[in-house]
Amino acid sequence: MFIDTAKIYIKAGNGGNGAVSFHREKYVAAGGPDGGDGGRGGDIIFVADRNLNTLMDFRYKRKFIAQNGENGRGKRCNGKSAENLVIKVPFGTVITDSETGRVLADISDNEPVVLLKGGRGGFGNSHFATPTRQIPRFAKPGTPGEEKEVNLELKLIADVGLLGFPNVGKSTLISSISAARPKIANYHFTTLSPVLGVVGANSQDSFVVADIPGLIEGAAQGIGLGHDFLRHVERCRLLVHVVDVSGCEGRDPIEDFKLINKELFEYDPEMKNVPQIVAANKTDIAIDEQFEAFSEFIKEQGYPIFKISAATTSGLDELITAIRAKLKDLPPVKRYETEAVPFEEIAEKSSREFSISVEDGIYVIEAKWLIPIINSVNMDDYESLQYFQRVLRTSGIIDKLLEMGIQEDDTVSIYDFEFDFVN
Ligand code: GDP
Ligand code: MG
Repeated sequence: MFIDTAKIYIKAGNGGNGAVSFHREKYVAAGGPDGGDGGRGGDIIFVADRNLNTLMDFRYKRKFIAQNGENGRGKRCNGKSAENLVIKVPFGTVITDSETGRVLADISDNEPVVLLKGGRGGFGNSHFATPTRQIPRFAKPGTPGEEKEVNLELKLIADVGLLGFPNVGKSTLISSISAARPKIANYHFTTLSPVLGVVGANSQDSFVVADIPGLIEGAAQGIGLGHDFLRHVERCRLLVHVVDVSGCEGRDPIEDFKLINKELFEYDPEMKNVPQIVAANKTDIAIDEQFEAFSEFIKEQGYPIFKISAATTSGLDELITAIRAKLKDLPPVKRYETEAVPFEEIAEKSSREFSISVEDGIYVIEAKWLIPIINSVNMDDYESLQYFQRVLRTSGIIDKLLEMGIQEDDTVSIYDFEFDFVN
């Protein structure tokens, strides 16, 4: 069975806690603090794998939890950072946030994508000895790793998608023009999973064709099998609409053509912008009048039409030449852009909850929603820091600190992160 959607739970590892420990040695009284830092939690990383072509594996395993970082120990022993958890998916897998529907990543090249950052390890108490605080009896906890439910959706990457009712000859066509060998059979719904074929594999202008399982009436409303497969045409740069003009199945080619496009455009109105070339198939057994009538209708609609026979290969060279020429003018395969969370949304969310307490003259901020931001902000990077400050300001945290009487250079602590207050 072909599985091309899945919903999974992913969680990055927690950072390990820093240790509270004091140096101990025989005959040495009151040694200094020597608690080590916690290790980093593992990231959740997605990577594309050529050997996979379905999301089948995710039917059986739906939870992916990266390891936590180790806690720090005495004698300045830092905890070990955890290994990242790498999840392999087929090329063309689009990952969205189940809660917001936002696109988080499009895994369609060899570049691995870090989807969730592991938590940071907390500092051990050895970090906190200052002239005025010689016996720090505290350490920092690690920050928790982020967790999410995500949807995986396989959207094939192909230049050309073959459209058409079952049995019009799509599988025959792809096997005539490429090395792909899908099942060909004279009954409906033979093609249960999309098949990719490379046309002109050794030439400069080779292109990839996807034989997409037959669409059936009502597919856009989710009736029957077709709907599931419509997502695979979404990325195609060009569609070749295959129609059986012989009427050998008792179907009307004009009605077929209209119906498929209706389904397609209902599914996604954007598909109107994807150019179509019509391949009138089975002309070896069609009578000329059948082809002429159909051709006239298609030309009226403004589509280019080619007279072919996938079985005898007649007309295929012309069709391929036309496809090549058209592809030259078309933009590359569509990539789904990652949709960043708008700043307003973070700020709005953030205005909800935080608490500030003063411990030992340090302003300690707690706000759960800040954790993923802290995990991903690079404190050594100016822009990153500015962003972080903006979040603190917009969320009202800075105002609250001022209200509590914070002074310039007082220490502010947010989870594992400490800085001197500058207004
Ligand atoms: P698909 O369901 O669209 O993939 O259609 P298939 O490629 O499986 O073909 C369905 C049937 O039509 C098979 O029996 C094929 O042999 C036949 N067929 C496909 N192309 C042609 C053609 O050009 N001429 C004739 N006569 N039969 C064809
Ligand atoms: Mg087929």
